Amino acid sequence: MSAQLDWQARGACRTGDPDAWFADNMTTAAAQRLCAPCPVRAECLTWALDTDERYGVWGGTTAAERLRIRRARSKPAAAPTTSDDSGRAA
Ligand code: SF4
Repeated sequence: MSAQLDWQARGACRTGDPDAWFADNMTTAAAQRLCAPCPVRAECLTWALDTDERYGVWGGTTAAERLRIRRARSKPAAAPTTSDDSGRAA
C-alpha cells in the first residue's frame, strides 16, 4: 500500500460489512453513524473529494453531500469590496 493510502488501513470500515458503505439507500444519518468514530475520517473525505469519488460513503458523507461540497468549492470567491468600513469608496 502506498504511503498516500496508509490511512485506509486504519479506517473503521476495515471490519464489518463492506456493503453497508455502498448501500443504494444509505441515508446521511446512517453514513455519519458508521463513520463518526473513524480515526481517519478527514483523510478519507479529502481523498474522496480529491478523486471525485461518486459512489458510496466516504468520510461520513454520501455522494450527494460530496457533490454539494465540490460545487461550493468551485464557486468563485466573492470579489473584494472597494469601500472601507465607513461605506465610502476607497
Ligand atoms: S471515514 Fe468511513 S468510509 Fe472512510 S475510512 Fe473511516 S469508516 Fe471507512
